[in-house]
Amino acid sequence: MSLLVVGSVAFDSVETPFGKVEEVLGGSAMYFSTAASYFTDVNLVAVVGDDFPEEPIEFLKKRNVDTTGLHCVEGKTFRWKGRYGYDLNEAHTLDTQLNVFSDFAPELPEDYRDADFAFLANIDPVLQLEVLEQVNNPTFVAADTMNFWIEGKLNELKAVLERVDMLVINEGEARELSGEPNMVKAAEKIRAMGPTFVVIKRGEYGALLFANDQVFFAPAYPLESVFDPTGAGDTFAGGMIGYLARRGAVGDIESLRLSTVVGCVMASFVVEDFSFDAMRELDDERILQRFKDFHDLISFNPLHSLQ
Ligand code: AMP
Repeated sequence: MSLLVVGSVAFDSVETPFGKVEEVLGGSAMYFSTAASYFTDVNLVAVVGDDFPEEPIEFLKKRNVDTTGLHCVEGKTFRWKGRYGYDLNEAHTLDTQLNVFSDFAPELPEDYRDADFAFLANIDPVLQLEVLEQVNNPTFVAADTMNFWIEGKLNELKAVLERVDMLVINEGEARELSGEPNMVKAAEKIRAMGPTFVVIKRGEYGALLFANDQVFFAPAYPLESVFDPTGAGDTFAGGMIGYLARRGAVGDIESLRLSTVVGCVMASFVVEDFSFDAMRELDDERILQRFKDFHDLISFNPLHSLQ
């Protein structure tokens, strides 16, 4: 089933204890669409400036991502600068320059409007709403956001939340949005704002899925070398929602649980290298192998009981 995504395409400058990169390819929609493209057809909505190179667009096209909705306008591409300490679970934003996103009014190509699945990746909630308004009758809508928008556009974000089926959000942001330190209570409060399903990303500690009265937990894959967590959240979401779209699944708990694992599998690749680089090396075989390794990591036989 087709999956529509709106989000940022960016130049990122990132510092971690292991190194530093300047103005490299990034953005929530860039990571999301690449990860999702391993599972389903993706239609991308975003904007870049006239300083944006052709190569990443060619890369997306090769991954079968439809870039008709990726507008190129006069001006500068979105830029984000962030830093991570040894606690790689939390990004500290140093600078955000919206540039061409400040007055972007997305107009969806005609054949994007019948999307079955939609993902409103981290971007201005006003844009998320504008995109949602142009989709005819989506079966399943998920969204992400971050502290920048929780602090800057809370009312608009709340209007988005009323209209989505799932929110995929970081632990720190879940705390900020709900005003609740405990994750079980935070998820409950966020569900009361609209989404039936809440997924809380906990960096190297994995992800929690809250679905009605059920909770599911998937750990992050333990890796020897973690260089740069930038994009891990969006790659997680791309794997998760891409997989749900491939199955055409909207609410059954088995698909939701599996999709959470697929999200963790996809995110495990991106942190192994700086910025977007690891996403270029992926293929179906590596994904399947890590999925199997993941299964070994978390399976145990409950019949060998404690007696
Ligand atoms: P994550 O997957 O959570 O690590 O998200 C990282 C990506 O989010 C980076 O590539 C940034 O370009 C992008 N980003 C950072 N701040 C914003 C923002 N305010 N709006 C949209 N995208 C952002």
